[in-house]
Amino acid sequence: MNRNEMLKTIAQDKLWDLIIIGGGATGLGIAVDAASRGFTTLLLEQQDFAKGTSSRSTKLIHGGLRYLQQGNLTLVSEALKERGLLCKNAPQLVHPLAFLVPNYKWWEGPLYGVGIKIYDLLAGKLNIEPSRHLSRQETLKEMPTIQKTGLRGSVLYYDGQFDDARLAITLAHTATHLGATLLNYMPVVSLVKKRGALQGLIATDTLHKTTYELRARIIINATGAFCDTIRKLDQTKTPRITAPSQGIHLVLPRRFMPSDSALLVPHTDDRRVLFFVPWYDHVLLGTTDTAVKDIKLDPKPLEEEIEFLLNYAQKYLTIPPKRSDVLSMFAGLRPLIKAGSSKTTATLSRDHSIIVSPSGLLTIAGGKWTTYRKMAEDAINKAIAMGKLPDRPCSTADLKLWGYKANIQINDPLAVYGSKATGLKKSLHHPLHKRLHYLKSQALFAIHEEMAETVEDILSRRTRSLFLDASAAMEIAPWVANLLAKEKGYSKEWQKKEIHTFNELAKTYLP
Ligand SMILES: Cc1cc2nc3c(=O)[nH]c(=O)nc-3n(C[C@H](O)[C@H](O)[C@H](O)COP(=O)(O)OP(=O)(O)OC[C@H]3O[C@@H](n4cnc5c(N)ncnc54)[C@H](O)[C@@H]3O)c2cc1C
Repeated sequence: MNRNEMLKTIAQDKLWDLIIIGGGATGLGIAVDAASRGFTTLLLEQQDFAKGTSSRSTKLIHGGLRYLQQGNLTLVSEALKERGLLCKNAPQLVHPLAFLVPNYKWWEGPLYGVGIKIYDLLAGKLNIEPSRHLSRQETLKEMPTIQKTGLRGSVLYYDGQFDDARLAITLAHTATHLGATLLNYMPVVSLVKKRGALQGLIATDTLHKTTYELRARIIINATGAFCDTIRKLDQTKTPRITAPSQGIHLVLPRRFMPSDSALLVPHTDDRRVLFFVPWYDHVLLGTTDTAVKDIKLDPKPLEEEIEFLLNYAQKYLTIPPKRSDVLSMFAGLRPLIKAGSSKTTATLSRDHSIIVSPSGLLTIAGGKWTTYRKMAEDAINKAIAMGKLPDRPCSTADLKLWGYKANIQINDPLAVYGSKATGLKKSLHHPLHKRLHYLKSQALFAIHEEMAETVEDILSRRTRSLFLDASAAMEIAPWVANLLAKEKGYSKEWQKKEIHTFNELAKTYLP
């Protein structure tokens, strides 16, 4: 992926089949679907790919046991099917993970056991492995630091785990290989209409301070929690369709849960589930569900959310983590679709919605990372049904993603690049930081091949350094800024400013 090459294609005055606004899971998935059907496709992202919610998830490709509790069998079956397709088409990024649901009361074993058997059944032939009951001893063997007092046993089941930002970058590579043009740092600032019908849009390249007017047969608004802002560019008085909710995660050292299995707390005080997940030799704890009013690109964890997660960790782990043990924390916004008078966002549906405005703007929002492919298929099918695009079938259910490679060693830092890792092995084979498993060659690859423009792009989304250990990320920021400046010909002044900007952001990841 080369940004300058991409810029050349938008400099020509042409009519695109479609322009997608937003470079998260939804927008990138649509770019892959559209390009694979042979449509001329342009995607514009205001900042970096996956800068929004799509880098801030719990990193699970799952049917969602919680939606089973809510009785949403359609969503669970659809998500389980998508889980199966992702394990098949991107095994380098999505791998099976065992989850333990602990039982402390006599009735929990039978209740959760039956629920999870339904989950197995809904997955059908795409199920990973059947669930089973573990005795107290087997549970402690699997997870030695789980709270022992009152433990009776657990139910073990399987779901998928992934690296969300790396899947987003992989989708960007895939779409590019299929002929799509993708641009980061290109916010859409207004829409262009003729006699009330949408014709195109205006976008600004914030790196070169250039403005472009671009035309398309259909424009798709895939801006997640920001989708109402774009809808208001289209119709100033349109009512909001989203009820955003914030979820945070805490990242702890692995010693708090030195197990290859994850832990699922099946019932929190606010009637949700909580996950403690091993992730790149760390433990990820999440999440919360807090209704918010302000839509920000960098939402911040609230005090009560941090306390909530630490309390549960102290309850369920034998080594109780303190605030000072937290290596990093991050917040994301769920683009939930409003449902009448519902008072809590926890009960709002995770299904996706497609809305077409009178001018022809197609908005797609809601859903989950897991279902991005189906969302993309539905969005393009809708554009075809509207008569905006010729009818061509979707083929993404069998499309192997960029770098496809089976039988991957998930602990290899280069595993996420799959078959493309060979190129990275040759140069700068030194660790980026002694507490992180990344290599310096990954930073170079990010600049040359993955359109990384800032220190944050490299340390947050091409590698996950900031999400895993914010202090370590701050320590390596000067080296990364220097590399970027050298490769792109930027000044010392630029480097200084870039390090400052990154450090200001990184401080908000520290508890
Ligand atoms: C805490 C939390 C945990 C979650 N965990 C899971 C999980 O484990 N598994 C799962 O399947 N799902 C999970 N989800 C849901 C999943 O992460 C989201 O559904 C998904 O990432 C939404 O993707 P999106 O592309 O719609 O939105 P986003 O990722 O937010 O992308 C929208 C993009 O649009 C861009 N944009 C906005 N305005 C403009 C503009 N004017 N011009 C150009 N670009 C613009 C933004 O910069 C952003 O990058 C979780 C969500 C949250 C909040």
